[in-house]
Amino acid sequence: MTEADDALLVSLLEERDRALLREIFGARASFDAPLAPHTSWRIGGPADALLSVETSDELAQVLRLVAKRKLPWYVLGSGSNLLVGDGGIRGVVVRLGSEFARIDFDDETGAAVVVRAGASASLALLAGQAAGRGALGIDGLVGIPGSVGGALRMNAGTDREIGEFVREVWVQTPAKPAPHAVSPQYFYRHTTLARDAVVASVTLAFERGDATIVRERLQQRLVRRKESQPLQFPNAGSCFRNPPGDKAGRLIEAAGAKGWRQGAAEVSELHANFILNRGGARAADVAALLARVRRAVAEQFGVDLELEVHFVGVFV
Ligand SMILES: Cc1cc2nc3c(=O)[nH]c(=O)nc-3n(C[C@H](O)[C@H](O)[C@H](O)COP(=O)(O)OP(=O)(O)OC[C@H]3O[C@@H](n4cnc5c(N)ncnc54)[C@H](O)[C@@H]3O)c2cc1C
Repeated sequence: MTEADDALLVSLLEERDRALLREIFGARASFDAPLAPHTSWRIGGPADALLSVETSDELAQVLRLVAKRKLPWYVLGSGSNLLVGDGGIRGVVVRLGSEFARIDFDDETGAAVVVRAGASASLALLAGQAAGRGALGIDGLVGIPGSVGGALRMNAGTDREIGEFVREVWVQTPAKPAPHAVSPQYFYRHTTLARDAVVASVTLAFERGDATIVRERLQQRLVRRKESQPLQFPNAGSCFRNPPGDKAGRLIEAAGAKGWRQGAAEVSELHANFILNRGGARAADVAALLARVRRAVAEQFGVDLELEVHFVGVFV
């Protein structure tokens, strides 16, 4: 490592920042905290500070603090779409806790199934509960791990995407720390949500159909996903977005990349758009493998694959 690399690993928090965070968050603030346990790839170096934020007021406090102290910060969902660098994340990493995990359904008899969910609520749990109420289209969101906030940021989905069902989004930002409503636009695996907006809660609305049929569809999707996805090793789902009119997995397979390895990172034999952590893979391994796959597809098919997974932190 060069001196410049070393400098990227030095915490940006001063002792007074740590003292203040300790005072506000007590045991819910951890310092130099490994992030690997918080990502589905089980990869990633330490965060200078990792905060478990329980309420909107606490979130507002953190946002004011990072703005005042000009500290870099990052909001983590369930970490199922992230490659965190081996050097970790400088500054403050926020995880949303219990107040943000609520799932509340409106009137149980109307023509629509309406649900308000906090950003840290599990999308899988929401999908199961919504299916039980006959929410039409919810099967398109089934089997996607992660939080409601992460899903909203990513516009997660399959043939249906979460953005199609959004009625309201509430966010908090450093400039406007109190919860307020915004109306982002939704595109394939991204949205116009401001980069510094933390999703606090989301209201979704679905047409109400027959719950038995919806539950059946949900089960069928889950079975299909289990058959087609390599879920026995840590991964982050599809690494590349599908290019228009094609599938990234098909192109990667056709490039002959299935089974390629770098360290303990491996291109899945079952689904070529998945990279598996076969045990102890580093972010650098995954990044190198992704670059090799991308090069191969570009050289053989002239298609420049775009990453779906977000790279975050320091890559050394
Ligand atoms: C096995 C597997 C299968 C998958 N299948 C699918 C699929 O079918 N379709 C699909 O779309 N995705 C899929 N994914 C990817 C992933 O689950 C989704 O992108 C998911 O929505 C990410 O949610 P998360 O909470 O894990 O977010 P994270 O990975 O933690 O974060 C993703 C992004 O969202 C931001 N973010 C997180 N929470 C908030 C918040 N509260 N406010 C603002 N920004 C926030 C983060 O900063 C980051 O930029 C799959 C992943 C796995 C591991």
